[in-house]
Amino acid sequence: MPLSGKVALVTGGSRGIGRASALELARAGAAVVINYVRDRGAAEEVKQEIGGKGGRAAICRADVTDFHDCQSLVEYTLDHFKRIDILINNAGITRDNLLVRMKPEEWQEVLDTNLTGVYNCTKACLKPMLKQKSGGRIINMASVAGIHGNAGQCNYAAAKGGVIAFTRSLARELGVRGITVNAVAPGFIDTEMTSVLPDKLKAEILSRISLGRLGSPRDVAGLVLFLATGADYITGQIIAVDGGLVM
Ligand code: NAP
Repeated sequence: MPLSGKVALVTGGSRGIGRASALELARAGAAVVINYVRDRGAAEEVKQEIGGKGGRAAICRADVTDFHDCQSLVEYTLDHFKRIDILINNAGITRDNLLVRMKPEEWQEVLDTNLTGVYNCTKACLKPMLKQKSGGRIINMASVAGIHGNAGQCNYAAAKGGVIAFTRSLARELGVRGITVNAVAPGFIDTEMTSVLPDKLKAEILSRISLGRLGSPRDVAGLVLFLATGADYITGQIIAVDGGLVM
């Protein structure tokens, strides 16, 4: 199996895209740490599913907005599986509102989780990854909103645009160490995050998707797996998985 002996940490691995990514990485042979912040039951289910198929998984609560929590999360990963090869910075939230109505806390929560969370987890992972001297993979969950913008998502688009710039900058820093850094930019994926959107808005977005359907978490996880397993000569890239929503 391509990821035998490798260890992956998936932030927000308990639900949606993170869950699908954790399952794919485990299927490819990686030992996986599934991070969550509120829903322990969901994380436990992913662990059971991986274990049931003969894979190795552990769960760990950590709030990615908290620098020390992220350090503990990485320490937990090293205690459990002795190394860390793949970091999937996936945890994310939305607090949609038109800017004219957007409260300071809606701005801050989204920036703290979606952008500072990426800094916190990556920073915590870097030293052990560099010490291992065996390269590594950092895969950040961005969004097409971070490339093209989206009305009602100034906070979210700004955070994801930041993730894109972070990805490119870190790719330049880590290339010589054999660590690739890429971002995945999903379009409209069928998860709990998007299930709360009004039906009218969903229908409007659907009408703009060339492939005529919402994406599934597995559609995104397929790219995560590709970036984690092969893709030796791909770094600093932002790859959309959006069914042709944005071209
Ligand atoms: P989701 O179904 O709402 O799942 C979010 C995950 O993030 C959960 O596991 C949640 O854990 C975790 N999480 C949230 N805040 C956290 C925190 N402070 N610390 C640690 N974990 C935290 O979301 P999704 O749709 O799968 O989205 C996953 C990623 O893809 C996000 O970065 C999102 O911005 C991005 N994305 C999604 C779409 C889409 O259409 N769905 C499109 C573009 C980009 P708990 O359950 O414990 O809270």
